[in-house]
Amino acid sequence: MFDVAKVRKDFPILEEQVYGKRLVYLDNGATTQRPLQVIEKMNEYYLKYNSNVHRGVHFLSNKCTDANEEAREIVRKFIHAGSDKEIIFTRGTTESINLVAFSFGEAFIREGDEILVTEMEHHANIVPWQMLCERKGAVLKVLPFNDKGELDLSQLDTLLTPRVKLVGVAYVSNVLGTVNPVKELIGRAHRIGAKVLVDGAQAVQHIPIDVQALDCDFFVFSGHKLYGPTGVGVLYGKEDLLNRMPPWQGGGEMIKEVHFEKTTYNELPFKFEAGTPDFIGVIGLGEAIRYVESLGLPEIAVYEQQLLDYAMERMRQVPAMRIFGEAIRKSSVLSFALGEIHHSDTGILLDKMGIAVRTGQLCAEPVMQHYGVTGMVRASIGMYNTSEEIDLFCEGLHRVAKMFKLA
Ligand code: PMP
Repeated sequence: MFDVAKVRKDFPILEEQVYGKRLVYLDNGATTQRPLQVIEKMNEYYLKYNSNVHRGVHFLSNKCTDANEEAREIVRKFIHAGSDKEIIFTRGTTESINLVAFSFGEAFIREGDEILVTEMEHHANIVPWQMLCERKGAVLKVLPFNDKGELDLSQLDTLLTPRVKLVGVAYVSNVLGTVNPVKELIGRAHRIGAKVLVDGAQAVQHIPIDVQALDCDFFVFSGHKLYGPTGVGVLYGKEDLLNRMPPWQGGGEMIKEVHFEKTTYNELPFKFEAGTPDFIGVIGLGEAIRYVESLGLPEIAVYEQQLLDYAMERMRQVPAMRIFGEAIRKSSVLSFALGEIHHSDTGILLDKMGIAVRTGQLCAEPVMQHYGVTGMVRASIGMYNTSEEIDLFCEGLHRVAKMFKLA
């Protein structure tokens, strides 16, 4: 059984007050909090071992290098990749996608080729592809979703032409919470020879991942949404594919030999890790994964699903509530509007009650355009949230509705 009271003890920030009110943190989709275990591990490395990785012969450097590579192995196991060479550390999801858009684009995208993304992507999984299309004269295509927030797979046959070289899809939408049928998408994309990048930014903290079972070509995520530090993320890519892609950034560590006439490049994964990495962040990410695994992702998922169902049920009782995204498979993200109340007004009023939510376009303007709204309010659940917090949140919503006479 998942023991939320025990888990909360590891996150002292959850006991903080804001404006003299108990903090109810429901902005986990933007970033999660970090447990003491992660903070202490990073502190330990800063205080006792800090030294640059992969370069030194001395004790401290070796200590950090070992911990950095141990974290790589932890990540590999966490997403069930076949080899450490397939785990590249980046600054986050955004950087991982930009790396692929540049490097895969250089190797494989020609004029007239097509890239397919879905209508519900985060800007991070749209803009790098647009930039690539502009550079190469390629074309960006879009797979739409219906009003429930589910992808319209009936359009796939038309959209998946042999010109499509890459499909970019979020495993879980950061606005609608939809858990997309990525395995089916991957299978169908592969049939026409396209590669698939899965944006796992909103998935890894809720759903066990097996990149080999999914058979995705790339899988990306950020540490800070997985109870780990900011400034570190992961790019998984199939080894043979990564080997056929050129380096993205040049500099130290990504080279084998440097001569003014010609430079040769390091092996995977280092070919894609130019410069000093955020190794203490990487070590922190490893610790975050260790922490999550000690609780059990399947157990976390069951608990969060109960909370989500409870929250949906209670939210539906609030007058003039409009929930965006009611897919059959939905995870942890609750975006909504209260009547005609501006999203930032709702957000500000909730904030004054101690309730932290996100408002605005949620880095997904096309989703806003789909529903014809300028923005939404988003509550997003983490494993440490409780049904009491959902109650406080929904009481807050009732109060806002009352202030605006929606009842
Ligand atoms: N994709 C999705 C689905 C996200 O939710 C986010 C973060 N909001 C990103 C990409 C970008 O992640 P980061 O800002 O950590 O690079």
